[in-house]
Amino acid sequence: MKKITVAKGDGIGPEIMDATLSVIMAAGARIEVEEIEIGENVYLSGNTAGIARESWDVIRRNKVFLKAPITTPQGGGYKSLNVTTRKFLGLYANVRPCISLHPFVQTKHPIMDVVIIRENEEDLYAGIEHQQTDEVVQCLKLISRPGCEKIIRYAFEYARQYGRKKVTCFTKDNIMKQTDGLFHKVFDEIAAEYPEIENEHWIIDIGAAKMADTPEAFDVIVMPNLYGDILSDVAAQIAGSVGLAGSSNIGSECAMFEAIHGSAPRRAGQNMANPSGLLQGAVMMLTHIGQTDVAEKVQNAWLKTIEDGIHTYDLYKEGISTQLAGTKEFAQAVIANLGQQPATLPKVNYAKDKAIVMPEYRRKAPAAKELCGVDLFLHWTGSDADELAGRVKTIEQEGVHLTMITNRGIKVWPEGFSETFCTDHWRCRFKLADGTTLAKATIIKLLELAEKSGLDVIKTENLYRFDGKDAYSLGQGQ
Ligand code: NAD
Repeated sequence: MKKITVAKGDGIGPEIMDATLSVIMAAGARIEVEEIEIGENVYLSGNTAGIARESWDVIRRNKVFLKAPITTPQGGGYKSLNVTTRKFLGLYANVRPCISLHPFVQTKHPIMDVVIIRENEEDLYAGIEHQQTDEVVQCLKLISRPGCEKIIRYAFEYARQYGRKKVTCFTKDNIMKQTDGLFHKVFDEIAAEYPEIENEHWIIDIGAAKMADTPEAFDVIVMPNLYGDILSDVAAQIAGSVGLAGSSNIGSECAMFEAIHGSAPRRAGQNMANPSGLLQGAVMMLTHIGQTDVAEKVQNAWLKTIEDGIHTYDLYKEGISTQLAGTKEFAQAVIANLGQQPATLPKVNYAKDKAIVMPEYRRKAPAAKELCGVDLFLHWTGSDADELAGRVKTIEQEGVHLTMITNRGIKVWPEGFSETFCTDHWRCRFKLADGTTLAKATIIKLLELAEKSGLDVIKTENLYRFDGKDAYSLGQGQ
């Protein structure tokens, strides 16, 4: 008997969780449920995290968490509990299978069997945002080598375990050469360790268009957090409905299973919602805890129910469906089909499935790191970059010179264009002659002089060379 944590969540959450639990218990799941309360009521009681301290203890003790969707109240400093849970518990891999159930579920893509593996802890979801000037706010996009290595290796291990032929990587590294560039580079390194699995990289924009148009061209797709969040909803929707897809959030200690959709408050309390997404999450959970016999029984009964044309409102189509079912009636139909198998859709066999075991991340030896310059970011309401350059040059130090000014990344000095629109956020790049190293004391001196001359420095970024290679972006147009 395995104890698992369950949260019924908000909106349609309690209905779809009751339906899901009724199905897996009827199938003989060897689980004991420990329920916690999270979400809207907890938020609105004044807890901006949406979860009580004791509930974390339950989640950490049981290690396996089945979670219904929750509502994050708008504004008011409420942080998304989904993102917090994934990051607190180190759930680095978000696995979202999106499969077409043609001809029983209407879709433009009858042949589609795509698994999106989304990095789950970092990227823009680090949630580090600041207002820096009157006109400019920033969000830090953090991509780490361990983050890339873990998710990409997980994608290849997943492909190997499930006999998948190809792993595709989506990034935008033609623009974000350092962050997405690292993700792509690590993909190439790790792909080389799995010669039996085909690999390819697509720039995300055309890759997304291709996936929406020709999903049968893809098998497993691995991508950074934000792209994976967006494209997994697209993939689920084009496969049939967001209400059909489940997801697992996997870490080395704990795992969380859920539907990919939200709490759909407009549908709450009406016995309308499709419980399939959460049920798919529960099937992944059963496989994860080694109860593959129960997982297989539930999945085959679910496929048979879909084949029988017993559909909730989101799937219901005249001519395809035979019965418009409510949440409860759909669950009862799945229970009645337990022990049966689909006739047309491929039946599943999970006998060989097991939790993927990943090697420990091993930190590489540090590179030779040299400080070779600094970007000072200024809040300045003027508009003439030459005038700003004149002022900033007065703080230059021996050997350290202003080499460039950019505004929102585009070079405006020297030789800027009068057409370029400028905000009040300016980056002034100071560099040394090549081959020399900057002392941190020089940066402090620059800041002191800037302060004395009335320049409003809002932040600095150090410019480094790692193993002799410049490790910062150039200005656009430089
Ligand atoms: P949503 O996914 O809740 O709903 C969008 C629409 O999709 C619904 O109006 C409904 O028409 C359809 N839909 C979703 N699930 C369905 C189901 N099971 N059966 C049938 N139809 C279904 O997205 P939203 O309206 O943008 O978000 C509502 C709330 O959910 C927000 O507070 C958001 O923060 C939260 N949310 C939570 C999670 C999570 O807990 N993992 C994920 C996404 C959004």
